[in-house]
Amino acid sequence: MIEPLLVRADARPRPDFLTGTKGLYIGGTEVAARSGQTFETIDPVTEQPIATISFAGADDVDAAVAAARRAFEDPAWAGIAPYRRTQLLLQVADIIEANVDELAALESLEMGSAYTQTQWMINHCVEVFRNHAGWPTKLYGQTAPAPSTQLQYTLRQPLGVAGAIAGWNGPLLQMSYKLAPALATGNTVVCKPSEHTSLSTLRFADLLRQTDLPAGVVNVITGDGKVTGERLMSHDGVNKVAFTGSTATGKHILATSASNLKRVTLELGGKTPYIVFADADLEKAAEICALAFCAGSGQACVAGSRIFVQEPVRDKFVELLAQATEPYKAGLGDPFHPGTKMGPLAFRGHFERVTNYIELATDAGGTLVTGAEPIDGGGLYVAPTLIDGLDNKSRVAQEEIFGPVSMIMPFTELDEVVRLGNDTIFGLAASVWTRDIGTAHRAAARLDAGSVWINRGSQMSAGPLPFGGHKQSGIGREHGTEVLDAYTESKSVVVELS
Ligand code: NAD
Repeated sequence: MIEPLLVRADARPRPDFLTGTKGLYIGGTEVAARSGQTFETIDPVTEQPIATISFAGADDVDAAVAAARRAFEDPAWAGIAPYRRTQLLLQVADIIEANVDELAALESLEMGSAYTQTQWMINHCVEVFRNHAGWPTKLYGQTAPAPSTQLQYTLRQPLGVAGAIAGWNGPLLQMSYKLAPALATGNTVVCKPSEHTSLSTLRFADLLRQTDLPAGVVNVITGDGKVTGERLMSHDGVNKVAFTGSTATGKHILATSASNLKRVTLELGGKTPYIVFADADLEKAAEICALAFCAGSGQACVAGSRIFVQEPVRDKFVELLAQATEPYKAGLGDPFHPGTKMGPLAFRGHFERVTNYIELATDAGGTLVTGAEPIDGGGLYVAPTLIDGLDNKSRVAQEEIFGPVSMIMPFTELDEVVRLGNDTIFGLAASVWTRDIGTAHRAAARLDAGSVWINRGSQMSAGPLPFGGHKQSGIGREHGTEVLDAYTESKSVVVELS
């Protein structure tokens, strides 16, 4: 029996921001939803409501898009000098940095992730804004070769109003990945966080009022996907869709956004293979494989949900991996307990989905190397679960589970593991463990994934490296120089000189 680490109710944070019904942020003002509707956000530790939040209906979405359009056209934003835009992004970074603990507490309360992890994520948002703050002064066009009677050049210009939709795992971080490049390139934004984790984005909008960012440049509307998200994605006043979420929703959004041919960036699901060759540093590989499916209770797009190990070291590695999950079992608990490494899953519906997959695995003949231990008090906790005895064709190997669940599967040689690693609809990331530099680079070249990590686990980029998915893991890239294409249009100008 695992006993989760608990915290006395009065020792858990309760930021003042949670008082009263939370409004929408439209045109720089907090407003109640015109729909008159609200919804509650739920703490996954207690399964009790944390706060009441306005639910944006169609009229509210329209008002937010109109505010973003006005701000886009206003010289206060459209006409500002590039360096001033840099300064504004740096102000945004500073205001987040000054409020890391509160923003992280709001995320841990709603999402259940360990407070140390949400603090890391909010600090990462600071880094994201500071990195993107460099772009405004470097958005160059080109001069084209032309006859002496002409001048030909290109301008790089913003798209207009961007609709940014985030999932519930890492709410402000996912929003920052969209907001920072959108603002750096001169767009305005309507943000819709997930209905499960709206609070940090709302508080962020509230804090933005302490910066010099013109009103309406960033707007936040809250609500569900079906009503609020759908209206935003199908709105003809929106020029760009920046979405993080499941592959199923991403496909739907791609179809919806076709109404006015919105530019689209989709960051979707994954089924990341971790590939461990016999010559790897097995202790280190086991430690990082455990982290890869246990951190954040496996609720990460890049979770290491398929672990392939080369035959000669299979038994030894399974033993090492099982040992490496022990600290996560011992660290299961309330996000605000200092010893917590894994919190509960984010909400009951998701808990049921994950536990159904574990049942599906055992029904299909899989064995649990770890994970069968009951949890004292139940709740939404799931212990690290490692499944052995199923192959890559099984449903648990093919479908994204999004919990602390991984599979261990054997392989004999490089060609075989590349084929197995690539054999899902996803292509977000892969991790390769070997001391042979040739094997490492051959695998990196052939794995069909947006990111490949050699002898390390996931490394999320704050700027320099692009991030995104191959195949059904997405379209487009966040970060890198690629992100500029995602938020700008090129315009060709021809000047007749004679
Ligand atoms: P989800 O697709 O259920 O929801 C994501 C967002 O879309 C939410 O804000 C939701 O309200 C909204 N939405 C739902 N239906 C909509 C519709 N019809 N129109 C417009 N908006 C709609 O995903 P989730 O469960 O919140 O997030 C988990 C998923 O996100 C996982 O698949 C995970 O892999 C993926 N993810 C991907 C990345 C990445 O960078 N590739 C990062 C984190 C999470």
